Order: sequence, then structure tokens, then C-alpha cells
Amino acid sequence: MAYSGFRLFAEALRGHRGWRPLWRDPEPQADYDIVIVGGGGHGLSTAYYLATRFGQARVAVLEKGWLGSGNIGRNTTIIRSNYLLPGNQPFYELSMKLWEGLEQDFNLNAMVSQRGVLNLCHTDAQRDAYRRRGNAMILSGADAELLDAEGVRAMYPFLNFDNARFPIKGGLLQRRGGTARHDGVAWGYARGADRRGVDIIQHCEVTGFLVEDGVCKGVETNRGTIRAAKVGVAVAGSTGRVMAKAGMRLPIESFALQAFVTEGLKPCIDGVITFGAGHFYISQSDKGGLVFGGDIDSYNSYAQRGNLPVVEDVAEGGMALMPMIGRARVLRSWGGVMDMSMDGSPIIDRTGIPGLYLNAGWCYGGFKATPASGFCFAHLLSTDTPHEVARAYRLDRFARGALIDEKGAGAQPNLH
Ligand SMILES: Cc1cc2nc3c(=O)[nH]c(=O)nc-3n(C[C@H](O)[C@H](O)[C@H](O)COP(=O)(O)OP(=O)(O)OC[C@H]3O[C@@H](n4cnc5c(N)ncnc54)[C@H](O)[C@@H]3O)c2cc1C
Repeated sequence: MAYSGFRLFAEALRGHRGWRPLWRDPEPQADYDIVIVGGGGHGLSTAYYLATRFGQARVAVLEKGWLGSGNIGRNTTIIRSNYLLPGNQPFYELSMKLWEGLEQDFNLNAMVSQRGVLNLCHTDAQRDAYRRRGNAMILSGADAELLDAEGVRAMYPFLNFDNARFPIKGGLLQRRGGTARHDGVAWGYARGADRRGVDIIQHCEVTGFLVEDGVCKGVETNRGTIRAAKVGVAVAGSTGRVMAKAGMRLPIESFALQAFVTEGLKPCIDGVITFGAGHFYISQSDKGGLVFGGDIDSYNSYAQRGNLPVVEDVAEGGMALMPMIGRARVLRSWGGVMDMSMDGSPIIDRTGIPGLYLNAGWCYGGFKATPASGFCFAHLLSTDTPHEVARAYRLDRFARGALIDEKGAGAQPNLH
């Protein structure tokens, strides 16, 4: 069933009785060409591009819970390609280009909204760093504008410009950045993959890997053994736990990240704003709630919830940036589990076990990467060669010292 304005009109006339589920609920088959472990954004987009761009028909996605139960349904929905380093910038710019055509591509309204992402700067040194970042972005085909304080004031007059500790001196604006409806993205990829024959199997937990003569030949699950010529793992915050079942220890640690949403307010923030003197970012959803977040909780955890010190820290960041936020009431907060890598950048690579491939290390920035991650992982799984923009995301870069340390924080995952 293709969605269109005409279809909506026709369904309205017959009481919306013609809509069908977005994907089937198939039983797992005994074997596939490719099995993807993890039905989050990255697993689903990988399956979608395998089917649509690489002609792979016998593909399954195995999800231990329900689609959207992981970070794809828990993030603050920001998309952008404002990266500095050559290993990152072309990858995230490819992702942005895929976002720009995504809804037409998978025929679902994922509410991709290029409302602009503004990173504020509060010192002269930070402005210099943003100028450098903006130039790097422009060199690789992205858009970037450096604003002075008056330029920021024209967009967001309510910000606390004269805060004695954190005066706002300007900001780096990417107008093509913005937000997208996170669960709509999962549904769109799932539906698109299902329509091309991909089996999306929910409540199917991978409990082990089938390794014969040193080669991965499939997976063990709570619904039986499933054989596959290739297995791709895209389980985000569960990466350490799942890859341990294949005997691998990775340069990844898991931490919780929280998000918050307030009661619905009249429109007041039409873009995404990030505070440059702490870690705080905010946007307003189409329903009116202010959606915001900050740092990860500072201890390792697999719990999908965080703790109170970060709630306080995020609230302080919000109050320093825009004191009016103190009058809004928080309706909900939740947490997700982040697969923090040692340099803050992802891994899309083969592993030391032939037949087993890894997509991980998205830290708290993997939503924006969903389209390019799936595309590049599908490329790797199909052709056994890395996509040109993901060439730097090798697993052995940590052994070679070829880190892609966007923040310059060193091997401190909680600081990336
Ligand atoms: C609060 C919060 C805010 C965020 N904000 C942003 C943002 O604004 N912008 C941005 O770019 N990124 C953001 N992120 C990060 C982003 O959401 C993640 O990096 C990204 O979603 C991770 O990829 P995924 O969608 O595939 O993960 P997930 O949706 O977590 O998918 C992994 C899936 O694997 C499944 N799984 C795990 N173990 C197994 C197993 N053994 N067998 C089968 N399945 C298994 C899980 O159930 C899960 O569904 C945020 C994250 C959080 C939590």
C-alpha cells in the first residue's frame, strides 16, 4: 500500500478501514543470506538499503523487543552534519543528503524538519573553533554560517545574552540541520524493508553466535537457530554484551543518556539550540513540548533510565541559557543506553571472525547517522568493501592509534 494524499482522502470516505499493518509478523526461517541483529534505526535502515540498493532479498532483522524499544524511539531527534574531522564530515553529510530525500524514498511522513541547528559560543576561542569547523563543513559540501551575537539575538531574543559567566558571543548555524520524528523513521524503514521481502522478527533475542571452524554461520536465538551467510550486529547500547557472546571485547562502554519533555507550550523555539558552555540542547516538538537533554550519566550502565544528578545538571544548563525555562513543567523524562566508543566515533567494519560484521559506537549521536549508517553497513555486507565515506570507521583504528577524536577528549568515553 503506497501512501498519498489521494489514499488519505479515499480512506477518510470509507472510515479508514482499508489501512493495513506497516509490516508483517513472519516466523523466522531456518536460513537467510544476511541476518541483522538489532531492530533499531541502524538495523532497519541497513535492511532497507540491502533490499532497495543492493538487491538482497533473503534478509532478516532480529529484534529482542519491539521495534522502537531502543534508542531509535528514545532520542531527542536532532539531525545535523556539523562535524569537523575528515573521517566524520563526509559520512554525516551523506546522511544529511539521505535525510533530505528520505520521506519520498520510503514513502512515509517522518516529519523531517530542516529548522536549523545553532551551536552557541561563549568565548573568543570557541568562536575561532566554530569558524574552523564551519570552514571544514563548507569544504565538504555542507552549509554553515557563523553568526555574531546580534545575529543570534535576531533569531532567539529570549536567550540570556548577558549572563556574567557565559555571555553569548555568537554561534555556528547549520540551516539544513533540524529534527525528524524518530519512531516515524523506524516505521518508514521497517515498512520499506518489509515490502521488499525482509523478515522483521520481533521478540527474537540473539543469545549466541554459530561459529564453525572459525567462521560465523548464523545465530542462536530464543526462537531457535537461524543460519546465515553473513551476520551484521547493530545493537547500539547492547554492543558490549552481544559481542561478548562471540568472544570479543570492544573499545566501547555503555552509559545512560536521559531526555526530558515539558508540557505543551505555544511555539517559541523554531530551531535547535545548543549551549556551548555546558552540555544542554533544546528544541520544541510539533506538539509544543520543549525537548531537551544534556550529558550522559557518568557511570557505566545498561539501564534505560538515568539518575538525579544529571537531572539537576541539565536543569542548570537550561536555566543558564534561557531562564524562562524555569517556568515550564517537565512532563516526562526517560533514558537510553549509549554505546560510547573511546574516540567518540563509530565502527562500521568486519570483525576478526569471517562472516560477522559490526555496526556500533554511535555514542549519543547515532540518530542523525541512521540513513548513512544503514547505507554504508549495507554496502559493506553486500560488497565486503567499506563505503568510501565510512572508510575511517575501522575497528583496528584503536590499535593503530588512528583515532577520530572529534572532541579531542582522549580515550574517555564519558567525555565524548
Ligand atoms: C535520550 C537520548 C537522546 C538522543 N538524542 C540524539 C539526537 O538528538 N541526535 C542523534 O543523532 N542521536 C541521539 N541519540 C542517539 C541515538 O538515539 C542512537 O545513537 C541511535 O539510535 C543508536 O542506533 P539504533 O537506533 O540502531 O539503536 P537502538 O534503537 O537502541 O537499536 C538497537 C536494538 O538492538 C536490540 N537488541 C539488543 N540486544 C539484542 C539481542 N541480543 N538480540 C536482538 N536484538 C537486540 C535492542 O532491543 C534495540 O532495539 C540519543 C539517544 C538517547 C537515548
